[in-house]
Amino acid sequence: MGGMKRDALSGEEDAHRPTTLGDLEAEDVDVFCWCNRCGHNAVLPIETLVGRLGPAQPVPEIGVRMRCNACGAKDVAAPPSWPSLGQVSNHN
Ligand SMILES: [Zn+2]
Repeated sequence: MGGMKRDALSGEEDAHRPTTLGDLEAEDVDVFCWCNRCGHNAVLPIETLVGRLGPAQPVPEIGVRMRCNACGAKDVAAPPSWPSLGQVSNHN
């Protein structure tokens, strides 16, 4: 819920544009979902999320729209699982 106000024309620059599902899809990056309540976690394929929420959905907000399918809590964190964060050795 909350304000669906479209004030994108009020002078905001593009610099603060959050990463969207479309951005992750372009990079082929999935999303790691973590329930803050029970610790249940899962990796959601990016194409599933784009199909469900649309490519313009800002990534920081998708957790708000999700619900843990283990305990039903809506307190879900959903950071992108950038593959580069875990593996730094392969540098050619
Ligand atoms: Zn849970």
